[in-house]
Amino acid sequence: MTDKYAVIGNPIAHSKSPQIHSEFARQTNQDMIYEAILAPLDGFEKAVGDLIAQGYKGANVTVPFKFEAFNTCNSLSASAMAMGSKAVNTLSFFTNSTIHGDNTDGIGLRRDIEQNIGVTIEKKHILILGAGGAAYGVMSSLAGASSITIANRTYEKALQLVMEIKDCEAKASTFESLEKPYDLIINATSTGLTDTVLPISDIIFSKNCLAYDMMYGRETHFMKQAHAAGAKVADGLGMLVEQAAEAFYIWRGVRPETAPVIKMLRNL
Ligand code: NDP
Repeated sequence: MTDKYAVIGNPIAHSKSPQIHSEFARQTNQDMIYEAILAPLDGFEKAVGDLIAQGYKGANVTVPFKFEAFNTCNSLSASAMAMGSKAVNTLSFFTNSTIHGDNTDGIGLRRDIEQNIGVTIEKKHILILGAGGAAYGVMSSLAGASSITIANRTYEKALQLVMEIKDCEAKASTFESLEKPYDLIINATSTGLTDTVLPISDIIFSKNCLAYDMMYGRETHFMKQAHAAGAKVADGLGMLVEQAAEAFYIWRGVRPETAPVIKMLRNL
C-alpha cells in the first residue's frame, strides 16, 4: 500500500517539500506520496488529527506551526528538546497513538555548511542574526564552535537564547553594537521575506567569512551586503534539502542523495 506524508503550513503554496520528497522517493524506490496541506491559522491540531484519521504516516511542519507541533507530540527526540527549542518540524504517526516529534533543521544546516559548502563549524567564531524558531532549532548543531554571538532586534530574546548555550563562549548583542569580524554569520531572521535592511556594519564580515542566509529563492539584502564586503555567500536551499533528507531517513530508514536534488531545484 502507498504510504502517505504531507507538509502542513500557512502559507504553503510556495513549499518545495513535495518536489523534494517525491524526488527522494523516486531515487530510493519508496512507495509513497507527499502533499502540501494548507491549515487555517487556528486549525493545526485538526489538520494533524485529519491526517492521522486518514492513515498518514508522518508530516513535516513549517511556518507558523513548529511550536504548536511540539505541543501536539507525546514523544520527542533529543533534537526536538535541545536548547529549549520547543519546536519540531517532523512528525511521525504510529498506530499506538504516538505522535513523535523531531527537529531536523539543525542537522540540515550543519550538513549543508560542512559537507556541501566545505566550511567547518569547529573552532569558529559564529554570529547568528535572529532569535526566533529557526535560530533555536539550529543552535544545538553548532557544537564545537569557539564562540557564538546572538544578535536580535529584540535584545531580550537574544539574551534568553544565549542562556541556553553551555558549551562555548556566548554573548547577546543588538545589531547596531556588533563591531568585530566573525568567521561564520548565519542570517536566521525573516527579513529576507520583506527585503528589510538589517542595521549591521560591513566590519562583521571577516576576510574568509561565510555569510549564510537561511532564506532561499532570492538574493536577500544581507547576501548582497556580505558579497560586496568580500564574504563567501550561501543561501538556505541546501539546508532545506538536507533537513528534508533527515526527515525522509527518520520515516523510511534510507538516506536519499541530496546533491542531485539541490542541483535540480537550482536549475528550475
Ligand atoms: P520567526 O518568526 O520565529 O523569527 C523571526 C526572526 O526574525 C526574529 O528573530 C525576529 O526578531 C527577526 N525579525 C523579523 N522581522 C525583522 C525586522 N524587520 N528587522 C529585524 N529582525 C526581524 O521565524 P523563523 O525563525 O521560523 O524563520 C526565520 C527565517 O528562516 C525565515 O526566513 C525562514 O524561511 C527561514 N528558515 C529556513 C529554513 C531552511 O531550511 N532553509 C528552515 C527554517 C527557517 P524579533 O525577535 O525582534 O521579532
